[in-house]
Amino acid sequence: MGEERIGALLIASLPNVQYLTGFSGSAGVLLVTAAQATFFTDSRYDIQAREEVKESRVVIAREYAMVAAAKQTARLREKRIGMEANTVAFAEYQRMKELLLKKKLVPTRGLVEALRVEKDEGEIALIRKAVELGSRALEETLTLLRPGMTELEVAAEIEYRMRRYGGERPSFETIVASGPRAALPHARATTRRLRPREFILMDLGVILSGYASDMTRTVFLGKAPAKAARVYRAVKEAVEAAEQQVATGRTAESVDKAARRVLRRYGYERYFTHSLGHGLGREVHELPRIGRGQATPLPEGATITIEPGVYLEGFGGVRIEDVVVVRKGGAELLTPTSRELMEL
Ligand code: ZN
Ligand code: ZN
Repeated sequence: MGEERIGALLIASLPNVQYLTGFSGSAGVLLVTAAQATFFTDSRYDIQAREEVKESRVVIAREYAMVAAAKQTARLREKRIGMEANTVAFAEYQRMKELLLKKKLVPTRGLVEALRVEKDEGEIALIRKAVELGSRALEETLTLLRPGMTELEVAAEIEYRMRRYGGERPSFETIVASGPRAALPHARATTRRLRPREFILMDLGVILSGYASDMTRTVFLGKAPAKAARVYRAVKEAVEAAEQQVATGRTAESVDKAARRVLRRYGYERYFTHSLGHGLGREVHELPRIGRGQATPLPEGATITIEPGVYLEGFGGVRIEDVVVVRKGGAELLTPTSRELMEL
């Protein structure tokens, strides 16, 4: 806040609010000054906020929490007020300008997100639990896969197990893409039925104790022919090469390069069309970005995904995604599921 020369910061991004206060509800705003933090929510969260929120004064507002926060902000001495540019809607910003006529509203980007990059051991333990839950849900579902099942049925089996084993909810819409649809990196599950001799790509995540998991496995229904096995081997070696490159102080760019180098050797580099990975924590996608042009050194304790893929139109695709913790000595792998090609 000092660097941005703001005397107060209005935090409306829920993952940021939850990270700073411990509040797990879905409506709340945190006002932070050098002297104190005040959390605003509405009467639906009266009991919950008083139980959960730590180290902030709690105000149960009779109006929209953001408006109550603005009215208190108007009474502050501070002139420059930070607001999260990527969270506040335009209409909300206009309303805030009316309520804070005598203040200067300053757009901020990534102030709290930057604090969230380096996880402490308590957070890493929670992420590990979420990752293990995701692996369990997927591994059990793999034993059920049969030709004739729809992609949606596969997604339902995965998501049922997430909740069954204590997960709060999926961290994003479960991706199940079979056959040629596996060439779409972000395919949603459909009513398409699984067929023999095809890839099935499954990308799933679960929220457990406020922290997200994220993993992808691609399996083959039947015995994989030579081309499918080769594509799979290329992606698996790319994950391994990237994992080898991860360590505190290395750049995300160098991790990305390690994966692309392997795919280039196989002739598949141009079919890897997205970035290598992302940070993972309270949100399934958070900082740091893991891809080309990311020259900032990886900090100790950052939790990231590594997820190279090869997508061949008309043929299908393969992606393998694991979660690792950045450590001084290298990557600590959290995902327990095997990376070997599974032929079901
Ligand atoms: Zn994923
Ligand atoms: Zn991911």
